[in-house]
Amino acid sequence: MSQNPAIGRIVHYRPLPGTEPVMIGERPAIIVRTWGKTPEDKVQLQVFVDGSNDGFREGLIWRTSVVQGPGEGQFHFHEDCQEGK
Ligand SMILES: [Zn+2]
Repeated sequence: MSQNPAIGRIVHYRPLPGTEPVMIGERPAIIVRTWGKTPEDKVQLQVFVDGSNDGFREGLIWRTSVVQGPGEGQFHFHEDCQEGK
């Protein structure tokens, strides 16, 4: 199940190993820009990290052109979450 992206929606972001080596698990993110209105369109995210536990000094990191899906480096909506299932 995929949903249409829209700015302001809260989603889950799965870190991409290699670029976010400390961050394990998913983090909440807000869609700040969309490149279209269909589930296939990429989005810009502000990701809420777990501070220094995730290896960041800031509370937010910017991820661009993120694709919707269940994989690493992708985002999904809460209703599509597979974590803990
Ligand atoms: Zn999730």
